[in-house]
Amino acid sequence: MSQQHILSLDEGTSSARAALYNQQGARVAIASREFASQYPQPGWVQQDANEIWRLQLEAATEVLQASWVDARSVAAVGITNQRETLVVWDRHTGQPIAPAIVWQCRRTAAACAALNAGPDRDWIVKRTGLVIDPYFTGTKLQWLLDHIPDARARGEAGDLLFGNIDTWLIWKLSGGKTHVTDLTNASRTLLMDLATGQWDADLLRVFDVPPAMLPRIARSSEVVGVSSGDILGAEIPIAGIAGDQQAATAGQACFSPGMIKNTYGTGCFCLLHTGGQLVHSSNRLITTRAASPTAQPQYALEGSVFVAGAAIQWLRDSLGILPAAPASQHMAQSVPDAAGVYFVPAFVGLGAPHWDADARGVISGLTRGATAAHIVRAALESIAFQSRELVDAQSADAGTPITEMRVDGGAASNDFLMQFQADILNCRIVRPADTETTALGAAYLAGLAVGYWQSTEEIASFWRAERVFEPRIAESERTRLFDGWRDAVARARSHREPAH
Ligand code: ADP
Repeated sequence: MSQQHILSLDEGTSSARAALYNQQGARVAIASREFASQYPQPGWVQQDANEIWRLQLEAATEVLQASWVDARSVAAVGITNQRETLVVWDRHTGQPIAPAIVWQCRRTAAACAALNAGPDRDWIVKRTGLVIDPYFTGTKLQWLLDHIPDARARGEAGDLLFGNIDTWLIWKLSGGKTHVTDLTNASRTLLMDLATGQWDADLLRVFDVPPAMLPRIARSSEVVGVSSGDILGAEIPIAGIAGDQQAATAGQACFSPGMIKNTYGTGCFCLLHTGGQLVHSSNRLITTRAASPTAQPQYALEGSVFVAGAAIQWLRDSLGILPAAPASQHMAQSVPDAAGVYFVPAFVGLGAPHWDADARGVISGLTRGATAAHIVRAALESIAFQSRELVDAQSADAGTPITEMRVDGGAASNDFLMQFQADILNCRIVRPADTETTALGAAYLAGLAVGYWQSTEEIASFWRAERVFEPRIAESERTRLFDGWRDAVARARSHREPAH
């Protein structure tokens, strides 16, 4: 049977999706299942790993059935996943020993504070390219091993397996045969030496993790196993793995140094490809593995904004001044400017480059003339201002100005936001025709591994711009607007909890 499609499994924080792609890189079908997180204590976020697998499988089955595609004609499957979230399960029963701890979970804040104050901080940051924050996997795994009775001993005995969601899904998909992760996911664990791409004995000691639990680290584009024949109806090569943001970078065909993409979803994730060069940030970004299509290591400088599209959700759901997220565009355009109003949505502190967990949101510059439209506009502008902070840090680290950026994610469909982004960055913003770049990137990585596609050049030829936004304000205006933003950020950062 001829190999006609690539299947991509895209397991996000709130939904599991499956998509099929054809030889031209076009999506022919997509199916999706939403699932919930649990919040058992303030700051805790967890999920049911069995439910994630069940829904991911449902989505995959649906996409094949709905498009009448025989699993035997699928050339390869690629997997992309919410990063940093972890599962520990029993090798013999296949049952997780606890709920998956989600990347957003802050339960290890105290452990991170202690490490940051201790003697190991500097070498850990240098070796991993990360900062020590509950966001990453290492302290979450340590927490599970400390809190589930006998877990560490069972891990040492080889009875328990650890993995991020990619590893869990592949283990299930392969019928328990393949225990593997890839370099992009492993680079988010605080357990891998970023330069060598190996688990690091010193880091495993710091986080007290038994090496027997760890998956093999594979390349992002290689055949790591096959799906079990009784699961999807055929033994399909599992050939691509990447964390969601690295997959999106590949889906944007950003394969060479200097290329940059920003994803505008709940938060923003901006990745600057630095090629084979491991650049340590001097501007408080993190360094991570990019999804390399070959055996050559590739790196990216990454910055993230915690609250971006979520600020629009807040205006809609909590303030009730917006009927729906897309309506923000028309409302923002109904006023000539934000009338001096700035909105810093630091609901959970500020991410890169500030890393200020104590900052809190502010709306500043209010006068009697301020309206809901000004606040909505200020919220959209805040997404662009925060993204500029990331891009400024990236271009300072890279030593070159950034002149063009590719965009995706739900809020990238907002034309006002994209124009304002171009204006405030003084950079061309390019929006592709297919903004489902995460699933697409995993498909590309899988397809390259099995020769379905021949090269990144072939893939890059599929990429199409839907719209380009050119900067069109004067430098003086850009400076004035951004200075105002800096003032507002200073207010958000001077927040203090009132004494009781
Ligand atoms: P995620 O993958 O993080 O769930 P999505 O990429 O699906 O996010 O984007 C959804 C986010 O984008 C939501 O926070 C929503 O408020 C915001 N959003 C969606 N459409 C628009 C729009 N047209 N204008 C502004 N924000 C939008």
